[in-house]
Parts: sequence; structure tokens; C-alpha cells
Amino acid sequence: MKDILVIGGGAAGYAAACGAKEHFPGARVTVLEASSRTGRKILASGNGRCNLMNDGDNVYFGDAAFADRVLETCTRQDVRAFFDRAGLRIADESEEDGRVYPATGQAASVLDALRFYADRLGVHMLCEQKVTSVGYGKKGFRIDTETDAFRADQVIIACGSPAGGKLGLDSYHLLENMGHRIFAPAPALTPIVCDMKGLGALKGLRAPVRLLLCREGKNGEKCVEMTEGEILFSETGVSGVCAMQLGRAAKKGDTLHIDFSPLLALCKRRHSHEMHPHVLPGENTENVYALLKERAAYLQGEALYAGLLPRVLGQVICQKGKSLREQARLLSDFVLPVTGVKGLDTAQVAHGGADTKEFDAATMESRLHAGLYAAGEVLNVDGECGGFNLLFAWATGLIAGKAAAESLRAMCEEK
Ligand SMILES: Cc1cc2nc3c(=O)[nH]c(=O)nc-3n(C[C@H](O)[C@H](O)[C@H](O)COP(=O)(O)OP(=O)(O)OC[C@H]3O[C@@H](n4cnc5c(N)ncnc54)[C@H](O)[C@@H]3O)c2cc1C
Repeated sequence: MKDILVIGGGAAGYAAACGAKEHFPGARVTVLEASSRTGRKILASGNGRCNLMNDGDNVYFGDAAFADRVLETCTRQDVRAFFDRAGLRIADESEEDGRVYPATGQAASVLDALRFYADRLGVHMLCEQKVTSVGYGKKGFRIDTETDAFRADQVIIACGSPAGGKLGLDSYHLLENMGHRIFAPAPALTPIVCDMKGLGALKGLRAPVRLLLCREGKNGEKCVEMTEGEILFSETGVSGVCAMQLGRAAKKGDTLHIDFSPLLALCKRRHSHEMHPHVLPGENTENVYALLKERAAYLQGEALYAGLLPRVLGQVICQKGKSLREQARLLSDFVLPVTGVKGLDTAQVAHGGADTKEFDAATMESRLHAGLYAAGEVLNVDGECGGFNLLFAWATGLIAGKAAAESLRAMCEEK
């Protein structure tokens, strides 16, 4: 029997194992999963709704060109076709910014469909098998776990990243010990820690905003990145999709400029690439001032903000801004000093990972070892929030599974 062994039962691991079986049903395909159950990040994704892919333009970091090549080899259509074969209905319409969800709106449906499909195809799933090393044995690869040893002709490493605290594991050493270069993982899509002195009342507030990350340079402060979307205030700073997208770039000493114009329906939605680097903090102040002045003509005191702003925000703006003009400035340019970002435990993905230069995007095979593949977040690619990370995991998994199966089939036919 010819064996394909997949390390990691997450998104990439499921796609790789099912993809391998689809292309070579005669192969024995086994998934070794460290935890007591598979697909835990799938279940946690998209706040339990699983934002499983994105229909918009690619937005990747790390080796973005590698991600582009991957998604040319395995397109969004190919990923949709895979889910179709697995029996998962995807919602007909994508949501804001191209986000795609299962029709049920439940992450559990995605994992269930994958579990049943893998089972139907005859994939062996072995949980509580934490792989400790991958190397060469007498015949092919030798894979050691904490309790057992396995042999395989082809190995697909899909062990993800340590992002997400208990949901992730740091298993980069499996590739590092095979001579692969690893870029140290750092948190991406993570909350930003800010000086929140005197702003405790904002804790729990959610609002649509435009967010500018600014940094002091030679010629003064400059916007280095901006996003739009929902922000969530906490005791320690800000999170929510909009803020977390800046978590990759934010560092101590930066300032966050929050523009509440989207909450006031005062600005048209613009995308990051349309704004940077021309955007200026406070550019909507005059519009906000005009709105406040118009309301102040017939609404006095607390009534000015009632019905316009969430109550706590109205209170904070009134406390901090003495005049209408100052309040308009605060609503269009509320400044928070950045003191850092939250670590990998709270991040959704890790920036960094295995050097993609050492893998072929058309097969995901290692350029250092024939028969060894890598897929998913273990690689040095991380995507924007909105389904890009899972899309990369499915696509790389499908490519690796197909390539491993075809290579194995060719080996069998040679004999
Ligand atoms: C809270 C949260 C929400 C998210 N929401 C979204 C979202 O909505 N959309 C999106 O696109 N992305 C989202 N992401 C990111 C996305 O979940 C990951 O990028 C994706 O799951 C990566 O897939 P993967 O298969 O590479 O890794 P994982 O899903 O992490 O799977 C790796 C598997 O390998 C196992 N493993 C690790 N080491 C070993 C070992 N030594 N031996 C055996 N098994 C091992 C792990 O236990 C794990 O099951 C979210 C992440 C988090 C944490």
C-alpha cells in the first residue's frame, strides 16, 4: 500500500487529504492531528460563521506573489467546486468586501461537510497524534509522534501556526529540521494596545469608523495605513476587524486616528488602496462641524448627540471637547497613542512561517525534498481579514493533495 501522510487536521489538512483521495483513491491517506479533535480553527472562524473565502482581489502579505501564483493554480472556482463535491452549500451572494460564508451561516456546517466527505473518501483521521519529527526511514519518510511511528511515501505538512492561543501549535521545527528556512512568526490580525487613560467608558462600544495608523517621520507624522469597518473598544485598546487589520503594522509610538464619519454617514466608503498615502487625519472635520452646527440650531445640550451617537460616545465627546468645533475635530480625528499589539495568543493569524521560495506554488512540493509538501498557514503567507486565510489554506491543501497523489500514482505505474 502506498501512503500519503498529512500532518494537521485543519483547513489545509482536510483539503490536502480529500484532494489526494480524489485524485488517487487507491492511496492510503492518513491525517495525524495533535489535538483531540480536528478543525478547531474552522469552528472558531468568522465568529462561528466561517468566512471561508473572499471573492475580491487578493490581499496577501509575506510572499504575496506566491499567494497569487497559488490562486492561479487553484482558483476560487476550484475551491467552490471542491465544496460542492463535499456537499457544502455556499451562500449565493458574497457579503461586504467579498466575504463568502456557508449558506447555513454556521462554521459547524463547513467542518461537518469536510468530516463526512473525508470519511466517504476513506481518509483515516487519527487524533491525539502529535508529530514530533519528520525524516527519512528505510522506505520513504519516517514520521514520529509522541506515541507512535509512521511510514509514508509522501508527506504533507499542514500544521498551521501558533496564532489563536489554544487553537494553534508551534510546529515549525518539523520543516526547520528538514532544512527549511522559517521566518519568525509574529501576530497579524490582532488587537492594538493603546493608552486608554480616561476612556474606560468606551469599553464595549462598537462603531463603524475610518482608522488611520500614523507614524512620526522625518517630515512629521504620516499615515502609514488605513482601514474602514467596525471598531470595538476595550479596556486595553481597540479590536474589531477594522483595527485588527492594522495589527500587522502597528507599533509602539504610532498613533491611531479614529474618524467616526462612517457612523455619521458622512463619507463614502473607500478602500485602503484608494486612500493611502494621500489621506490626512481630520480631513472630514468641516463636514462633521457643518452637521453639528445644523443640529445645534434646534437641539441643545444632551439632545445634540442623542439619536446621533451611541450614548457613551456622546458623553466622552462632550467631556473632552469644550466647543462645537473641538467636538467636531474629536469626531473626525480621535487620537489614541499606540503602546503595542496583542501577542500570538489573541491573533487570528501569524505573519511569517516557512520560506515560500523553497516550495513550488504549482505543486506545493519542497524544492529541498521530493515527496515533502507544505500547505496553509505554516507558510510565509498571511491574508487580510475577510476569508483570505482560509482561501489560501484550502487552495494550497488541494494543490498539495493532488500533486502528492499524482506523484504516487506515477511511482506505482513505473513499477
Ligand atoms: C479565532 C479565529 C478566527 C478566524 N477567522 C477566520 C475567518 O473567518 N476567515 C479566514 O479566512 N480565516 C480565519 N482565521 C484564520 C484561519 O482559521 C487560519 O488561517 C486557517 O485555519 C489556517 O489553516 P491551516 O490548516 O493552515 O491551520 P490550522 O487550521 O491551524 O490547522 C493546523 C492543524 O494542525 C495541527 N497540528 C499542529 N502541529 C501539529 C503536530 N505537530 N502534529 C499533529 N498535528 C499538528 C493543529 O492542531 C491544527 O489542527 C481565523 C483564526 C482564528 C484563530
